[in-house]
Amino acid sequence: MNNTATGALPASSAPGLATHELLQRLVEATPARLSLPESINDPATLRDWQAELRAALEPVLGVTPESVQPVAAEISDTVPCAGYVRHHLCYTGAFGGTVSAYLLAPDPPAATPSPGLLCLHGHGDNLGKALVAGVPPNDTVAAYIASHNYDFAVRFAQRGYVTLAPDALGFGERAPDKSGGYHNAMGRVTEYLGLSLTGLRLLDDSRGLTVLASRPEVDPTRLGVVGLSEGGKRTLFLAAFDERVRAAVVSGYFTSLRREVQTWRRLHGWDLCNHLFGLLPVCDLPDVAALVAPRPLLIQNGRRDGLYGIAEVEAGFGTVRGAYAAAGAPDACALDLFDGEHVFMVLAAERWFERFLDVAAISQTG
Ligand SMILES: [Zn+2]
Repeated sequence: MNNTATGALPASSAPGLATHELLQRLVEATPARLSLPESINDPATLRDWQAELRAALEPVLGVTPESVQPVAAEISDTVPCAGYVRHHLCYTGAFGGTVSAYLLAPDPPAATPSPGLLCLHGHGDNLGKALVAGVPPNDTVAAYIASHNYDFAVRFAQRGYVTLAPDALGFGERAPDKSGGYHNAMGRVTEYLGLSLTGLRLLDDSRGLTVLASRPEVDPTRLGVVGLSEGGKRTLFLAAFDERVRAAVVSGYFTSLRREVQTWRRLHGWDLCNHLFGLLPVCDLPDVAALVAPRPLLIQNGRRDGLYGIAEVEAGFGTVRGAYAAAGAPDACALDLFDGEHVFMVLAAERWFERFLDVAAISQTG
């Protein structure tokens, strides 16, 4: 999501004349057949529901999430930085694509393998990995990164994690044209093919986990994922489908879509990256988050983030809380509503990963 709609909706001159009123009524009349049932209250039944929902989401994503794929990665450049080294690398993406990325490794390296964190960017003029890896092309972008706490791949590397920041489809080196037109064309062609950007990015991000896990300096049993905005959405879907993710932080991408439709106005600021064909007859975003249970999931949203309503976020989190209670892990999910806008909150995310990726020793050195 890359901008915020403002202004009131115009009033319709006759009941139901306005298109949004018709669509809102259709959404109300369309139940989600696989939303989390309140009757689920034990881990085994929850797992059955999760398996059913994952299968039902494949037509929505337009892809079949894969088990681990062989990934060929090649480092082309290494730059020493303050407390870490930054490698530039490329690796095999979905459907034969190539993913460009930065890998940030603590320097000096730890004596034992470190936890690995996949750090996922959002929009920000389609700049991609440069945002999370703190490699701004100019002072304007540097100020943007600072104002959004966007360089979290750096922050985590300096605290002892090995971090991987890949360019998503349509971002960074994968988008030679940074205009909105490039992004919109990419989204349309994806849909003409019956695919989805969310699904394709899920396949690529799963390969990112494989790259992290294959590094000798990474402990493959301690993998996490974190992202802001579109990166938060990528985090949400990767954690939901790839059980190698042991802990996740979704920042600036969580709400009840069904409720947002009823509010409507905020939807004007959501772009083609948010398309999920036929999602609502199946479930809602909070149900996708419920697929992560019982693995630890922190959701962050700013109270002044114009893309979502707090009431919608809190209502959606009720579903997540229900899933974690059923899983017997009520303390493994949390909603961090902070006083801020569409930005990343570093400290809460750091504490989350310190708690769940066993890096207590690391946290005392950073
Ligand atoms: Zn987009």
